[in-house]
Amino acid sequence: MEKYVRLQKIGEGSFGKAVLVKSTEDGRHYVIKEINISRMSDKERQESRREVAVLANMKHPNIVQYKESFEENGSLYIVMDYCEGGDLFKRINAQKGALFQEDQILDWFVQICLALKHVHDRKILHRDIKSQNIFLTKDGTVQLGDFGIARVLNSTVELARTCIGTPYYLSPEICENKPYNNKSDIWALGCVLYELCTLKHAFEAGNMKNLVLKIISGSFPPVSPHYSYDLRSLLSQLFKRNPRDRPSVNSILEKGFIAKRIEKFLSPQLIAEEFCLKTLSKFGPQPLPGKRPASGQGVSSFVPAQKITKPAAKYGVPLTYKKYGDKKLLEKKPPPKHKQAHQIPVKKMNSGEERKKMSEEAAKKRRLEFIEKEKKQKDQIRFLKAEQMKRQEKQRLERINRAREQGWRNVLRAGGSGEVKVGI
Ligand code: ADP
Ligand code: MG
Repeated sequence: MEKYVRLQKIGEGSFGKAVLVKSTEDGRHYVIKEINISRMSDKERQESRREVAVLANMKHPNIVQYKESFEENGSLYIVMDYCEGGDLFKRINAQKGALFQEDQILDWFVQICLALKHVHDRKILHRDIKSQNIFLTKDGTVQLGDFGIARVLNSTVELARTCIGTPYYLSPEICENKPYNNKSDIWALGCVLYELCTLKHAFEAGNMKNLVLKIISGSFPPVSPHYSYDLRSLLSQLFKRNPRDRPSVNSILEKGFIAKRIEKFLSPQLIAEEFCLKTLSKFGPQPLPGKRPASGQGVSSFVPAQKITKPAAKYGVPLTYKKYGDKKLLEKKPPPKHKQAHQIPVKKMNSGEERKKMSEEAAKKRRLEFIEKEKKQKDQIRFLKAEQMKRQEKQRLERINRAREQGWRNVLRAGGSGEVKVGI
């Protein structure tokens, strides 16, 4: 702690204190989460440490950045960036009843989805999505924070069953004592979206019993019709009682009205990494080929991390360029001779016209060949890049797993993701 000067306590959460500090090294503000682990059982203590290791491996513009962690006097300290804009809960209250513009809601929502995608793609659950855990930075970027109780998906059902968090965000399955799963995070995401649209909780009651009844019944006051059909329909999908019927975060991000906002918040490079896409500066983000290239030998090992459907719609890529690369167009052959014989020429051309037409066609053929060649090269580059990313991702997951097996210290040291100091 000697590296940090305590400024003020900013909150007391379910897992300990949150303190605003100033670093004596870089002069920047940070938030330190202080978790008392001295009274925890060995198992719980190990669990907390493993979670820190998971947290340390997260890096995304829409996730509150972890800095380091250390233990001192029976407490575990987690240092993270300070989000000066406060949390969404406070931002909602500051509206004093005036509804947000749909554009604003969707810009925030897509950023929350991108953060959750990053988490879910790594088989991690957030488990505590709520407006108080979603922060705004100074420049208005939204960041998902507080992974204090995030658990790796494969962890024991026992742990997953633990009912924690603010009751407003509880999903029907948790109310029914079924295991927490990725769709429970999606339910909570729906609660946040609803809050952004109405400035109220979707499910509210005077006591826990009535709250649970409301959640299980799945009925909530309608959202203002002033919001688009797309937005209102998305809400009802997120609030499906059966977790299987709720969309995954990846399919939410595939919806046109959400997808078109992605490039506002992620750089082309990050879009490529997160969605396993290669982009082209000239045309803006460009989709991966919908199908594997038929010709490529050894391409069978190419499995993009995320299956991309309708990528053009997803990234708002104008489809006009596709005209030239269209496979059908490229493969179009002249009809067989016997068929040609039956064809009646529409108009007889003179030789000048014919020559002109022939040279135009030759030019067109050359153009198509060139485009096809270029496309093949690009496919190859994409393939190599995807392979490289797959390798890197595998290494990262192995690091996380090692962390889970061996405890956090070794891994944090080996991975260089954070400094570990054990105070006496
Ligand atoms: P809870 O368990 O209720 O989420 P926390 O300890 O996480 O409580 O947070 C307490 C308070 O500190 C909240 O008001 C939250 O908005 C604020 N806070 C937590 N982390 C940060 C952060 N990184 N930047 C700014 N404020 C934060
Ligand atoms: Mg919190």
